[in-house]
Amino acid sequence: MDIVFATANRGKLREAAEILGDGFNIISAEQAGITEDIEETGSTLKENSIIKARYVHEKTGMPCFADDTGLEVEALDGAPGIYSARYAGPGHDFQANVDKLLSEMQGVENRKARFRSVVTLIIDGEEHYFEGEMRGSIAHSRRGAEGFGYDPVFIPEEYPGKTTAELGEAVKNELSHRGKSLRAMASFLKDR
Ligand code: IMP
Repeated sequence: MDIVFATANRGKLREAAEILGDGFNIISAEQAGITEDIEETGSTLKENSIIKARYVHEKTGMPCFADDTGLEVEALDGAPGIYSARYAGPGHDFQANVDKLLSEMQGVENRKARFRSVVTLIIDGEEHYFEGEMRGSIAHSRRGAEGFGYDPVFIPEEYPGKTTAELGEAVKNELSHRGKSLRAMASFLKDR
């Protein structure tokens, strides 16, 4: 089945291909002809995932899905949350976002955090939503070279002492927020 993933993030595309497996041909937003940034103007992860999925569905008419993810840090009252992608300001990259997080967390003892992902799927004119979370904590410094975004500083509960950037893609996909939401979507699609 051909399905568009409303993202330009190569890390997310690779993860989704691995998680959804052989029955799905995942087409990136760019391959579907969408090269512009989709503005995320919602006030929740769910609203933002709906905005992205609807935009791509209107442009392509194809079955499609979008994910919106936020990193929620307990000691920062849930920040960066929906602002995770632009934590260090508009136009900033993963590096700057991680630098800002580490500096906000300097000297902070409670390092508990979680990733949350909401996926919106649009198929046969209907919308469906799937959620996943990964609990863990924020490391004191970067470790590991795999993954993307905040992976070098996120330690999942199941592997104390290792960041998701050290665990590698297969282990991360087992545990991760998006692994859970995308597996729920895949099982829904397979049951149809
Ligand atoms: P978005 O869902 O692409 O808007 O992601 C929000 C922010 O969270 C971006 O800065 C991403 O880099 C980061 N992010 C999303 N998923 C992950 C992940 O699995 N690991 C680490 N960072 C992530």
